[in-house]
Amino acid sequence: REAEAWEARFEEARTRDGHRVEVAANLGNTAHAADAVERGAEGVGLLRTEFLFMAHAQEPDLDTQIGEYREALDALDGRPLVARTLDVGGDKPLPYWPVPREDNPFLGLRGIRLTLTRPEVLETQLRALLMAAAPGSEQAPRPLRIMLPMIKDIAEFRAARAILDRLLDEIPAAERATDVQLGVMIEVPSAALLAPTLAAEVDFFSVGTNDLTQYTLAIDRDHPALSAQADGLHPAVLRLIEMTVTAAHARGKWVGVCGELASDALAVPVLVGLGVDELSVSARQVPLVKARLREFDLAEARAQAELALAQATSEAVRDALEVR
Ligand code: PEP
Ligand code: MG
Repeated sequence: REAEAWEARFEEARTRDGHRVEVAANLGNTAHAADAVERGAEGVGLLRTEFLFMAHAQEPDLDTQIGEYREALDALDGRPLVARTLDVGGDKPLPYWPVPREDNPFLGLRGIRLTLTRPEVLETQLRALLMAAAPGSEQAPRPLRIMLPMIKDIAEFRAARAILDRLLDEIPAAERATDVQLGVMIEVPSAALLAPTLAAEVDFFSVGTNDLTQYTLAIDRDHPALSAQADGLHPAVLRLIEMTVTAAHARGKWVGVCGELASDALAVPVLVGLGVDELSVSARQVPLVKARLREFDLAEARAQAELALAQATSEAVRDALEVR
């Protein structure tokens, strides 16, 4: 089966009845984009840019960042790049950007909250992304999707949007990306609950099930004894994903899932049944997730989603899905 999945890795992923779901790759290093394409990724669904920042002893300047983002966009050759803006703090400190000691770093200055304390850092990063995605001499479009981490409500989105809009005004059109979307991660429960207000203004959502599960169940995702209970197939998490998709589709916006749940064989039909449009998984998993998508049809996926939503615990969800 693995050999079969590998053979078919460049084919679009469709359910048995032809419903298309995009499969993209999660990357922490722009040098790995070519490998992701070779494994059948239809784009990068999550570039964790914090690893690029962590790889440098000081904040990478504009040209350094442009060079790195360009490396990924060149390898993607017209496929979309979803680049997440710097997501540090919490479990991911940056040595040259010290954050005062916090009792609860996961509930502290991290993600967009931290970045908005130094808007010039966000501005440089956005400028670098926009400039790296300028159409090259071949004039081929380079779809750029910028994604904001840890958004809890619309105010943080608007603050970032204002910076991006100013840059789009300021940089001559020929020198920057022309196909740009600005979206948010849904990884804080308040963002899922407020998805209707967010969906009115964002271009897309991507559900970060790792953090969404952690914050919904109040279980540290890295807790040595408890993390096994932090299961994204928990019905509470699934309801938040359902709310997110409903709100997005009502506004014609797309929804991806870029957390671990996206490559869980039991979860794939559930997510598709909930209406998720894109799955972003580690490059290694791309052929397998594509193969998994070809095993069921949309009606089956919807039935699996209904079944999962009706359960009371994640154990019950796994049992119910397993017997099928
Ligand atoms: C997530 O939280 O699900 C996610 C994709 O982001 P990260 O794992 O980098 O926090
Ligand atoms: Mg996260």
